[in-house]
Amino acid sequence: MRSNFYRIKWFISKLPGIFLAAFLLYKELLRNICVATSLIIFLLIPALNVYAERPVVVVLDPGHGGDNTGAIHNGFIEKDMNLIVALAMKEELEKYEGIVVYLTHDDAMTNMSLKERAEFAASQNADFMYCLHFNMSESHMLYGAEVWVSAFDVFYAKGHAFGQIIMQAFSEMGLFNRGIKTRINNRDDDYYGIIRESRALGVDTILIEHCHLDHIIDKEFYALGDFQLEEFGRVNATAVAKYFKLASSILGVDYSDYPVPVVEVPTEIVRPDLTPPDISHLELISLNIEERVAEFNLMAEDYDSLILYYGISLDGGISFDILQPFPAGTTELTISVNLPPEKDLKVVAAVYNAYDRITQSNIIEISALPIDEIIEDIWEEIEEIIDISLTELTRELTERQDQINRRLEVYQYVIIGIAVLMVLVVIIIISRVVLLIRVRSARFDK
Ligand SMILES: [Zn+2]
Repeated sequence: MRSNFYRIKWFISKLPGIFLAAFLLYKELLRNICVATSLIIFLLIPALNVYAERPVVVVLDPGHGGDNTGAIHNGFIEKDMNLIVALAMKEELEKYEGIVVYLTHDDAMTNMSLKERAEFAASQNADFMYCLHFNMSESHMLYGAEVWVSAFDVFYAKGHAFGQIIMQAFSEMGLFNRGIKTRINNRDDDYYGIIRESRALGVDTILIEHCHLDHIIDKEFYALGDFQLEEFGRVNATAVAKYFKLASSILGVDYSDYPVPVVEVPTEIVRPDLTPPDISHLELISLNIEERVAEFNLMAEDYDSLILYYGISLDGGISFDILQPFPAGTTELTISVNLPPEKDLKVVAAVYNAYDRITQSNIIEISALPIDEIIEDIWEEIEEIIDISLTELTRELTERQDQINRRLEVYQYVIIGIAVLMVLVVIIIISRVVLLIRVRSARFDK
């Protein structure tokens, strides 16, 4: 009994040692497991990398669809055009490695809500959604390409970075650059539904307005045939490839070193410019009455955004000529204006900023050129015409006279010849008669 007690006591006294030994053994085992796992992971890294390098996922959203046609102009229907662009963009993008492309819809009959489009992009874990559109303006005065991006944090930064790449491409095509812009609704959220809904679901989105259907200047970029819309698709695809630094062995291009613009993530909402241009001032430099041309100096500036266009009105601002691009980076330019006659003119310039806010300049009045002067001018012109006609007429008459004279000369000789002949005939007849009378009278005398 006592020996058992001692054995137990001995065992208890050795317990710390046993625990320590077990612990050390366990620790060694753990260490070995750790080393082995690290070794396995290390060996598997390349394979894991391939698996981890998930392809870029993009969603293309052809704007409108079904009953929602979008803009319609001269038989051009926006929803159909957007779809052609999207299909060509998808085809081109799929020539690149490491990208998966989805369309929100691939027929012109489907009309998805903006929320459904955003949800579709989110369900595909899209890295970016591109919403494709064509534009039209209420005044039918605007032309060019533009993109709309979210006004918020990283969504703004990414949208703006891609916007710079695509706008550069559009400018190279010859399209007028209307800029990369944000728009806010009255709830201080993104104005455009597709951008708002996408941001709510964490999807980066950009709205691309390729050009204006209702302006003659943009017509040459879309109206010649579907090939132009497909070209838009390819240009968009190249911009996407550059942004995601993709490469294509089919196309033989590699954008892995492409310098994607770095845009700082804004800490506040990037608000659009809601005020019109701050300066719009017109000054008459010279007036050439004879040529009916006036030269003006136009000064224009907007402290918050760029001046995009200017237009000239001769009727005090009721109607304007086709808008002209205002040279970027300048604040003034010289404009030459042809003045129509016999009208009092009220010359006004209108300047547009990037958000289509307009400021009209001061009015410069030019009185109609005096009517006498105009009549005199017209008379001078008539006289000149008469002079030319008279000279021509005289020349023609003289030529005719010469022709007649030459003919008359010929006739003269013929007439003289005939007269001589007739005289000879008469003389012969008379001499014959005289001879006959003499013969008769000689017979009678016998
Ligand atoms: Zn549209």
